[in-house]
Amino acid sequence: MSNFRALVLHEEGGKVVPRLETVDEDRLPPGEVTVAVEYSTLNYKDGMILEGQGRLVRAYPHVPGVDFAGTVLASDSPEFRPGDPVILTGWRVGEVQWGGYAERARVPASFLVRRPDGLTARQAMAIGTAGFTAMLAVMALERHGLTPQRGPVVVTGAAGGVGSIAVAVLSKLGYSVIASTGRMSEAPYLKRLGAAEVIDRNELSGPAKPLAKERWAGGVDSVGSTTLVNVLSMTKYGGAVAACGLAGGMDLPASVAPFILRGVCLLGIDSVMCPIEPRKTAWDRLARDLDSEKLLEITTEIGLDAVIEFGPRILAGQVRGRTVVKIS
Ligand code: NDP
Repeated sequence: MSNFRALVLHEEGGKVVPRLETVDEDRLPPGEVTVAVEYSTLNYKDGMILEGQGRLVRAYPHVPGVDFAGTVLASDSPEFRPGDPVILTGWRVGEVQWGGYAERARVPASFLVRRPDGLTARQAMAIGTAGFTAMLAVMALERHGLTPQRGPVVVTGAAGGVGSIAVAVLSKLGYSVIASTGRMSEAPYLKRLGAAEVIDRNELSGPAKPLAKERWAGGVDSVGSTTLVNVLSMTKYGGAVAACGLAGGMDLPASVAPFILRGVCLLGIDSVMCPIEPRKTAWDRLARDLDSEKLLEITTEIGLDAVIEFGPRILAGQVRGRTVVKIS
């Protein structure tokens, strides 16, 4: 195929304008491995890129899509051969170079992870960047020494992508999960994913006390700002919170009290430049530690043409769980 279908962003009159187009293969970026993309997904960052927020994209025309799963078509690298199933997340693909909202992608071999046996391309993207990030957060909490015996774990932004996968994985691992959400109507969904308790995010949204009543041994936070500060102030002695996101704001109006009086640790999670070894470990863990039925419950599928409509919805916190984009 020398032409393929892609969602292309253009900058026109200071605005970002998306269009579905047929693109010539010559326009793919340089790279060692060409991939036939089967699925991509919609992440919060994709929403920002589709809306032209955060100056994440510097050059237009641009093909967005920060992750994809597909099959190798051609490879100049000994690491991959045509027919190999692969996953890509991060490395600023979909931001500084063309991404996954296209039937073809071309990337350096070092950006790719072999798709673990037992995960289909659709399942891999139902997990996607958000689910991979949730697993990195779980692994960071485990390195800190968190176990189910230490106490419950709170997950904020629980009905979103990172949150839904975190709830499902932590509950499968035996943790008692407290899911915090602004959509209490999604409490039955969160319980089906394994949450033991669902709380209204208002409980965590006001200005935080330096120290509040100890409620959980750990946390996975995709919200940031005062929510993260409240979570820290309620974390038990010696506990830890993994900070993954900024859906509620990038600021951190915090006190040092939880750190110096309770020995609480704040663990930073970055999925984009994460080195290859923890990437492979995280994907192997996801193939093992996430129930396929729960993953199905979390997943909504859309076509490439619907991405334009869904972009603003994820930024408004209106998308539940994970949205996979069927590409070809
Ligand atoms: P989603 O939009 O799917 O989930 C975010 C959730 O946060 C929403 O569903 C909502 O959950 C909650 N939320 C939204 N707005 C607010 C608000 N104003 N105040 C409080 N809660 C809010 O996004 P993702 O799960 O894809 O990503 C979550 C965050 O993690 C984003 O900030 C994203 O940029 C970041 N991220 C970071 C990565 C990294 O490498 N560190 C990788 C991937 C994502 P509810 O309705 O349940 O309250």
